[in-house]
Amino acid sequence: MATDEEYDMTNITALTWHDITTQARNIADRNHDRYFENVYGVPQGGAPVAVMVANLLHIPLADQPEPGKTLIVDDLVDSGRTLTGYRQAGYIVDACYRKPSSPLDVAPHALELDGWLTFPWERDNGEPTDAVIRLLQYIGEDPSREGLLDTPKRVVKALRELTEGYDLDATTVLGTTFEEPQDEMIVVSGIEFASMCEHHMLPFTGTATVAYLPGDRIVGLSKIARLVEMYARRLQVQERMTRQIAEAIQDVLGARGVGVVVHGTHSCMANRGIKKRATMTTSALLGEIRDEHDTRHEFLELALNPTL
Ligand code: ZN
Repeated sequence: MATDEEYDMTNITALTWHDITTQARNIADRNHDRYFENVYGVPQGGAPVAVMVANLLHIPLADQPEPGKTLIVDDLVDSGRTLTGYRQAGYIVDACYRKPSSPLDVAPHALELDGWLTFPWERDNGEPTDAVIRLLQYIGEDPSREGLLDTPKRVVKALRELTEGYDLDATTVLGTTFEEPQDEMIVVSGIEFASMCEHHMLPFTGTATVAYLPGDRIVGLSKIARLVEMYARRLQVQERMTRQIAEAIQDVLGARGVGVVVHGTHSCMANRGIKKRATMTTSALLGEIRDEHDTRHEFLELALNPTL
């Protein structure tokens, strides 16, 4: 699946069904005086093209292609590897479109188009609930049985909730800060969080201890908990979440030092794979809490002491 970073989305051609039927007609015209028994579409984009070409040539679709008898069609010649393979096996091959970089001798009459193409069947992937229904079918379940009827809706809702941190930013979450001369370390311990590991999309839960040495400004305790929640409610790895919490406090509050220790239990490790429950501890120390031995020691005593 292409992302915005991977492709220049300004140079994208969204092909319409009219574009495709026109190209399918061209394939049929180019090949109508040859003898074929049937048409085979290269999965998956070739399939809709094969249906159109077979219809125009008045021949059936092939279950199993046979050299000399089957016309092989595809939507797009990209690297050319697939169609070259068929050609070398003795097939006549054709396609709707070809990239300028594609080998010229494969489907030489296919229309050349530059840039990123999207076909009508690649767009409109439906509702996210459809994806949940597909997953239920994949694991062998019957999505229409009573207990599962509302499951797709619930899964999507839960997923939205577990990832709602994407819609927030640290400055907004920390909100109002107060000017308050304060020399002592401020520590908030045992902040519970529920996050989701980005490798398996399974929950990991635990507690965070957050400490900071204020610069000029301090913030309400509940705001620290909200900051932890904001970073937890995304697809995460525990190490990154720990660092993000620390950096946000340093940046937004101008703290002289920040220490964050997170203890997490990962269900992707406890319930699958090696199936062992274990606690992972990560820390991020910044500024004076990292650099000054006594302060660092004071923080780690507090954060790692299990009686807190
Ligand atoms: Zn995982």
